[in-house]
Amino acid sequence: FPIIRAQISPDFVPDAKFYKVEAILRPWRIQQVSSALLKMGIRGVTVSDVRGFGAQGGLTERQAGSEFSEDTFVAKVKMEIVVSKDQVEGVIAKIIEEARTGEIGDGKIFLIPISDVIRVRTGERGEKAERMVGGHADMSSVLSTS
Ligand code: ATP
Ligand code: GLN
Repeated sequence: FPIIRAQISPDFVPDAKFYKVEAILRPWRIQQVSSALLKMGIRGVTVSDVRGFGAQGGLTERQAGSEFSEDTFVAKVKMEIVVSKDQVEGVIAKIIEEARTGEIGDGKIFLIPISDVIRVRTGERGEKAERMVGGHADMSSVLSTS
């Protein structure tokens, strides 16, 4: 049965309506990234302070003379943004545009399929829960109907 075969294949990637864009970025670029996302109607964003180790290794992040690292891990910020499938590539492109310096340590982006979104206040699920008033979808529909 084709569907079952696809699901047990090692390169099977589940298709989803929503994806989480998870970006590990330089802390001093976060303001720039989040204000650019807000301008495009991306209003739901979660950030956490994290520490990591990549090709940059334990090399200290330096900005305006202050050091952000302790021991061998470098301070990074993790941004998590759940968006509808059609918004994924736009969000990724914007993050790269705003976060990239070209130097080692610019970070990485992971894309994770999301099975559902539930708004706690209303109990809404799926598209209703994922949509935000004045969000990217609203901005695009205003543009396309005017
Ligand atoms: P409500 O209308 O009930 O306020 P909401 O959709 O605006 O619902 P909040 O309750 O304001 O959601 O969201 C709480 C927190 O959840 C936010 O501060 C943010 O950290 C996180 N969050 C909300 N939406 C998203 C999203 N699409 N992606 C990532 N994080 C989100
Ligand atoms: N996809 C939502 C919308 O268009 C926005 C999601 C988000 O801001 N993370 O309303």
